[in-house]
Amino acid sequence: MEVIRATKAGTCYGVQRALDIAEEVLDTCPCAYTLGPLIHNPRVVEELAARGACVAKSLDEVEGNCATVIIRSHGVTPQVRDEVVARGFTLVDATCPHVARAQQGAAELAEAGCRVIVLGEADHPEVEGLRAYAEKAGGKVDVVGGPSDIPEGLYAPIGVVAQTTQMRENLEAVVGELKARGLDPIVKKTICYATRQRQDAAAELAARVDAMVVIGGRNSSNTTRLAEVCRMACPKSYHIESGDELDAEMFAGCQTVGVTAGASTPDAHINAVVAKLESF
Ligand code: SF4
Repeated sequence: MEVIRATKAGTCYGVQRALDIAEEVLDTCPCAYTLGPLIHNPRVVEELAARGACVAKSLDEVEGNCATVIIRSHGVTPQVRDEVVARGFTLVDATCPHVARAQQGAAELAEAGCRVIVLGEADHPEVEGLRAYAEKAGGKVDVVGGPSDIPEGLYAPIGVVAQTTQMRENLEAVVGELKARGLDPIVKKTICYATRQRQDAAAELAARVDAMVVIGGRNSSNTTRLAEVCRMACPKSYHIESGDELDAEMFAGCQTVGVTAGASTPDAHINAVVAKLESF
């Protein structure tokens, strides 16, 4: 059975950077905290916990006067950042630079006097951060999931900033709707194409193999979406967290199997799955 790896798969730049930063901190600091899991991958979170990384739901759960708090790749609100410092904790910033640019963009729109439209999932921590940065800069903010959520009665100037993982088509639809209302919004270019590149590469591969294996946390929305994309082109698509879930019977009659992985799946996990598939 030939095993083919998607041309784009596994950790994106921002997640890999956050993992590298966390590992560097844990090399010298026996206990560091993240506010929520560092990434949406239970196996990686377990591995980090074994090295001393604690997951806190809020700063109230952080123990020790000089504890280290690592900010995750999708960032936090400026209030949380200030609170980390005010409580005397050491702040280690693993916010993805793309997210940091979006936060800065949201603040710039507000400073320019714009009403700020944040396009994204309302309860996602990255979106909470974008909203908070704009509000801290004095802006009035609306979070929308798409064009149908845009409130009535808006007037210029309007600014739009998107959660980094939004689809370009959704942003275009929101901008189109605002233009149709006679508003000409200032649009910050904040979309990161890491997710889209993984989906496109997975779809291309899924269309030419007998089976697909998608590796990543079941709690990872980008991995789940990747599995959906694969299933559309290849009905025999398996979403797994570890190679232990695979056996040879699952690939009976297959000549080719494709492998892809979500943006929070490290290379070592992908390599282990590829090696197992090649042993069948
Ligand atoms: S998906 Fe893009 S914005 Fe999000 S962490 Fe990865 S590189 Fe950064």
